[in-house]
Amino acid sequence: MSTQIIAECQDCGFQAPYSLLSPVCPNCGSEWREAHYDYAALGQRLPGLLSGRPFNLWRYHELLPIQSPSPEISLGEGGTPLFRATNLGLMLGNSNIYIKDERQGPTHSFKDRQAAVTIAALKEAGVNEMVLASTGNVAIAYSAFAARAGIRLWVFLTSLVPAVKMRETALYGTQVVKVTGSYDQAKQTAALFAKRRGLFLDTGARSIPCIESMKTIAFETSEQLTGMLGAPSQSSALSGPVWQAPDWYIQSISGGMGPLGVLKGYDELMKMGLIDHFPKFGLVQVEGCAPMVHAWKQGKDVAQPVAAPRTLIHTLATGDPGRTYTMLRKKILEKSDGFLEMVSDEEAYRAMHFLAKMEGLSVEPAAAVAFAGVIKMVRAGIIKPNESVVINCTGHTMPVERNILGEGWSKDLTSLGGDEMEESKEEGLLAALSKVGIDRFPRIAIVDDNPQVRQLIRRILQSQGNYTLFEATNGLEAIDLAKKEHPNLIILDLMMPEMDGFAVMDALQADSETADIPIIVVTAKELTPAEKERLRGHIQTLMQKGDFLSDDLLDEVRALLR
Ligand SMILES: *Cc1c(COP(=O)(O)O)cnc(C)c1O
Ligand SMILES: [Zn+2]
Repeated sequence: MSTQIIAECQDCGFQAPYSLLSPVCPNCGSEWREAHYDYAALGQRLPGLLSGRPFNLWRYHELLPIQSPSPEISLGEGGTPLFRATNLGLMLGNSNIYIKDERQGPTHSFKDRQAAVTIAALKEAGVNEMVLASTGNVAIAYSAFAARAGIRLWVFLTSLVPAVKMRETALYGTQVVKVTGSYDQAKQTAALFAKRRGLFLDTGARSIPCIESMKTIAFETSEQLTGMLGAPSQSSALSGPVWQAPDWYIQSISGGMGPLGVLKGYDELMKMGLIDHFPKFGLVQVEGCAPMVHAWKQGKDVAQPVAAPRTLIHTLATGDPGRTYTMLRKKILEKSDGFLEMVSDEEAYRAMHFLAKMEGLSVEPAAAVAFAGVIKMVRAGIIKPNESVVINCTGHTMPVERNILGEGWSKDLTSLGGDEMEESKEEGLLAALSKVGIDRFPRIAIVDDNPQVRQLIRRILQSQGNYTLFEATNGLEAIDLAKKEHPNLIILDLMMPEMDGFAVMDALQADSETADIPIIVVTAKELTPAEKERLRGHIQTLMQKGDFLSDDLLDEVRALLR
């Protein structure tokens, strides 16, 4: 299906076949690796492959790090519209300004791409629990896709993340851990928690699925611009580029993962011979947190971190871009050119009003930052009147009202030390984690031969409670599991091939080690009076599939574990 993907180490150059679950270079241990595909072959085949495919992110799946798209978790990601910013263009004297409207993704930000590809890759690899830190939108996007895929998600957010974004994250059943501290501290805490519990950690710009997902913005806009402007003039049917690249790609940035991925996308289009030039990158930060802009203007290739960001636009408050900036700068200078600019919170709010009134777009402040940057760059003559400009309209916030969620939907981690990385820091974090009780949970075994039912039950339990879950796919496995793991509760299916639920019950009951474990039977079977009699006294609860909602099961589980 997909071609072989090679992961090339950015440090030592070592090449190895790509696999999601081995995220470091086998030669030097570096986490910075880049995916490579067979561009010569794909350049020939891609335009043909695309015709007839729906206009969404998965149309480029040969250039994504998955074996095959998984339609069952899709929410219509990618394929967002591109339209001309007519009024903005008139006012700025440039009729070639286009808006890539990423608000129209399933959770209203361009992070939907990252979430869709990463969750699809995790599902393919059989991973069902993961951890990440976020300034808000990554948390929301991953929450939605994780919910569909039955993946348990732990999200570490700083207490500065707007309450509406936190509530939306919690609404999806994600485990929200609020960290009092900066975003960089939230990232460190998430990493430690993941390491401690052996869970998959989303590493953002160091993660191949994340970077690869962002390429689709470059692919889509190139196709869309071609639809609007026609193919490049020198192209013929037999040779030459077939798609239009803009002169500028503009985005507001925080950690800089978006542009790093989009840049790779254009680079691949060049390698495949599908476009004839590389766009310039115009990247915009907020003044109160602009480490990359400062470094760029000083010609430095390492950004000095901002320890305490001063901005109300928390989505953009990555104080320490680390190596992402260095790589971004190197690639921008290597491939084409670019310009980094900063705007004040106030300029962003003004652009936000302008966009709503003049273009009919209600965006979140972080997205408005890019527009404020374009206004500044056009006025300064950096963007020329005849140049084409694609602005990534990165997102919009969905208002989740306070009264929708009950109490206790987040866990507050407050006992973090100072800003410095001290030696005792790790212990402090661990102490804080155990204080909010996220280091030890009741243990539940789910026994069902149907993977979809196991996923459903897992999702129900994970979305609201804190449980360590085990799964068995048949009766014999269930008995082994019960002996080995001593769960506090077993959720048991009755109809399974070879050894059915009745036989499992009998075996558990006959063994003193497992006889006391409470059992909830969840069954699709219409029980005969004799069967009901057989269950009596052996199980605590009987639930008929199709006859209960998630909360009913949770209530039973909670009652039995009490
Ligand atoms: C994440 C985000 C950004 C910043 O993007 P990076 O590529 O991570 O720097 C900008 N705007 C919105 C709405 C975002 O969610
Ligand atoms: Zn290496």
